Amino acid sequence: MQNLLYFLYGKAYINLTNACSNACKFCVRDIKKDVKGSNLWLENENVSAKDVIEQIEANKEKIAIENEIVFCGYGEPLTRFELVKEISQYIKKTMPDVKIRINTNGHGNFLNKKNIVPELSKLIDSISISLNAQNEEEYNKISAPKINGAYNEMINFAKECVNAGMDTTLSVVTNFKPELYNINVSECEKIAKNLGAKFRNREWIENGY
Ligand code: SF4
Repeated sequence: MQNLLYFLYGKAYINLTNACSNACKFCVRDIKKDVKGSNLWLENENVSAKDVIEQIEANKEKIAIENEIVFCGYGEPLTRFELVKEISQYIKKTMPDVKIRINTNGHGNFLNKKNIVPELSKLIDSISISLNAQNEEEYNKISAPKINGAYNEMINFAKECVNAGMDTTLSVVTNFKPELYNINVSECEKIAKNLGAKFRNREWIENGY
């Protein structure tokens, strides 16, 4: 069975895909193949909403303890936007008290070739977007995006989320090889505040978690 749902410190996470438009230098998937014992590498990309919902169904009581479920795995969840929608609709309908969060690299509009925020904002309670750096140059170094103009895509996506009234957080990972990457946390925080978003600085730790 593929691990489409996993738990980390009691919280439930949905792992939809291994596809990502970034190749972040600190990405845990390049460092190890499991997160606290759950192997998140998928054998194939044919995950269906039904597959995920089956695993949610089997863990409903455990999910309800933390009352939050997060789309976040070894890839970018918004590469599978239709799945995110279908699964979120199911969660809203069957577990209305459970909050839904998505952790994303912010390339969702580019990947889906349209503005997905109006639809997303109706289903997702909060969104965490990887800002990763204070400017495009540093972003390209640490996130190694596979698409052109990725930094601006991410910033524009964050703007859309804030404007749509979503609970939006921009995040950075610090202390990952500081001799190679110059992440200016206060500049990053300023960018988040200026956009009207919250800010989170996540310290990188050996093994990723
Ligand atoms: S955006 Fe997330 S999944 Fe993609 S490479 Fe970066 S850390 Fe890994």
